[in-house]
Amino acid sequence: MQFRDLKKQYQVLKDRIDAACAEVMARGAFISGEEVSRLEDALAKYVGVKHCVTCANGTDALSLALMAWGIGKNDAVFVPDFTFFASGEVVPECGATPIFVDVEPDTFNIDAEKLERAILRVLEEGILTPRVIVAVDLFGLPANYPALSAIADRYNMYILEDAAQGFGGELEGKRACSFGDISTTSFFPAKPLGCYGDGGAIFTDDDEIASLLRSLCVHGKGSFKYDNIRIGRNSRLDTLQAAILEIKLDAFEKYERDAVNTAAGLYTKALCDTVKTPVVPSGYLSSWAQYTLTLESRGQRDGLQAYLKENGIPSMVYYPKPMHCQKAFENTAPAPVDLSVTTCLCDTVLSLPMHPYLEKEDIDFICAKVKEYIKKEG
Ligand SMILES: *Cc1c(COP(=O)(O)O)cnc(C)c1O
Repeated sequence: MQFRDLKKQYQVLKDRIDAACAEVMARGAFISGEEVSRLEDALAKYVGVKHCVTCANGTDALSLALMAWGIGKNDAVFVPDFTFFASGEVVPECGATPIFVDVEPDTFNIDAEKLERAILRVLEEGILTPRVIVAVDLFGLPANYPALSAIADRYNMYILEDAAQGFGGELEGKRACSFGDISTTSFFPAKPLGCYGDGGAIFTDDDEIASLLRSLCVHGKGSFKYDNIRIGRNSRLDTLQAAILEIKLDAFEKYERDAVNTAAGLYTKALCDTVKTPVVPSGYLSSWAQYTLTLESRGQRDGLQAYLKENGIPSMVYYPKPMHCQKAFENTAPAPVDLSVTTCLCDTVLSLPMHPYLEKEDIDFICAKVKEYIKKEG
């Protein structure tokens, strides 16, 4: 059994993907081929924003957004404490200060009340300027954007939506990658919409920011490639990856997102009386980058993981360490305040196999083993 079965997906889409790759190779436009702009149009349309600018990966996408806003020294950027490292890594990289904020125990997303308290603390200290809220759509579920937008408006801040795991999620019919002033995603193979290598994209409704991003992605180009008007970087999506993503986006739209929601429904129905299953608040739709249980203790979590492994079931701990405990931030982030929910989640979460090609028999088997362990070990 696979945690995320990318081989199965390839088997299903093989004929189309192979043909699309062969066509790119025959044409030889490996960088900025027509597939790239076609994909950008399709992604912008799917998400419901004006502009999509593809780039080399989801981390670059976040960095480029901060560069476009001119975020740097003496700026405070608020980041959830419970996320993948890259959500915070990009902050010191541009010279700004990351402030880690606790998350909600049910949705795993940034806690709006604690965020506002953290902003007020920074304002009181009077050293840093609060500029950006990095809102991560963790495990496929959009963050609480109504609350976050009100806070961003109140303190005149930007929202940077990190939808690396959130692509395909929805809130009140609006799609992930449309909630930020700038939103980003990743096409790392294991993400909800993945390619066959690294890739990323940036979304915005702002015309000026979009053209600035297009320049920053290609060495700060001006009117043409060898006219360089600012310091940028080299961050582009390969034509081959765009060709693969066009086909995968079609499958995602037509059935993959529905399939993971069906799988999640089966898991929750079977397990909700035994363990704490993931919560999708009303009005929200998840794209299930992960299906994550919360156990009662570290011992119970580790024991369950070992028991599943004995039974040939892969599972993962996303994430074992809060951001504020990462050594990399020891000299850049100020002393943490009230990050107790994250600290507890890192000890108790466990993600089960989740992908669009997961069979009902596999889910039944996994659920039976989870129940067996909890009944036996209590
Ligand atoms: C994967 C991920 C990223 C980084 O994406 P890459 O394409 O691997 O650079 C950023 N944020 C979150 C929340 C992620 O899960």
